[in-house]
Amino acid sequence: MAEPGTATQLSPASVFDRDSVAVVTGASRGVGRAVARSFAAKGLRVMLAARSADDLRALDDELTARHGDGRVAHARCDLRSADDIGRLADATREHFGGCDVLVSNAGIGWYKPFLEHTTGEIDDLVRVDLTAPMLLAHAFLPGMIERRRGLIVHVASDLARRFLPKMAPYVAAKFGLLGFSGSLLREVKEHGVKVTTVLPGLIDTSFGGDDPSAEGSRDDSWALRPEELAARIADLLELPPHVVIDELAVHPLHQDF
Ligand code: NAP
Repeated sequence: MAEPGTATQLSPASVFDRDSVAVVTGASRGVGRAVARSFAAKGLRVMLAARSADDLRALDDELTARHGDGRVAHARCDLRSADDIGRLADATREHFGGCDVLVSNAGIGWYKPFLEHTTGEIDDLVRVDLTAPMLLAHAFLPGMIERRRGLIVHVASDLARRFLPKMAPYVAAKFGLLGFSGSLLREVKEHGVKVTTVLPGLIDTSFGGDDPSAEGSRDDSWALRPEELAARIADLLELPPHVVIDELAVHPLHQDF
């Protein structure tokens, strides 16, 4: 059954079809898992990537049971590692032959004073939130350009364009991601490849906490649910070929943004 609010199956006008392949990072939970479910419901084939092998396997089993054999695969990938990113690209080509839609969704961040971030945390954050999306685009763009068809979605944050104390490294990385994403769009659009930066407000996931099971337990019940954001991201698949949404800002109505 499809997620609430998600239309099943691509419309015939979509440039994507049942042969199209999406790679989704951060697919083990939160927004990435919801995006993977939405895309599979739309009929795409999906490669799931994250570090948590058990969670990936559980989602692979769930989606395979729902949509059939051969439609979903998963690859364990630590996005801090360029080698792992290369292996993810290889696994995608081996399983599915290529990638038409890349959703660079994985992200990390902590709300605490700058000096309480360790240097290791700062390094990891920049690798996951900024370097990895560039390396992933580098790996998958050539195939998209060759086929003159592709979509890259960067899940940034509304903090990609406003300042916030106690999240300085995260805000810096998301500003950088917006800069990369918008510039890349203007470079590759002539090849038929679209790039969209998603700028969400608060989402009810376990982001920033130590407990991955905390999803759905925020006090702020007015936050976006991951499925609600995923449905808006899945809408991007339906745009006519000549239309691009370069920035997609989505907020809970009651957030102060
Ligand atoms: P989440 O529930 O914490 O999920 C984060 C995902 O990133 C997990 O699947 C995690 O998988 C993956 N990840 C983390 N480190 C990784 C690494 N080193 N290698 C590979 N994968 C890694 O967070 P979320 O809320 O869904 O966040 C998704 C995106 O939305 C992020 O880019 C975040 O910045 C952005 N965002 C979130 C909010 C919010 O309020 N939650 C608001 C605006 C923007 P593993 O741990 O299994 O590797």
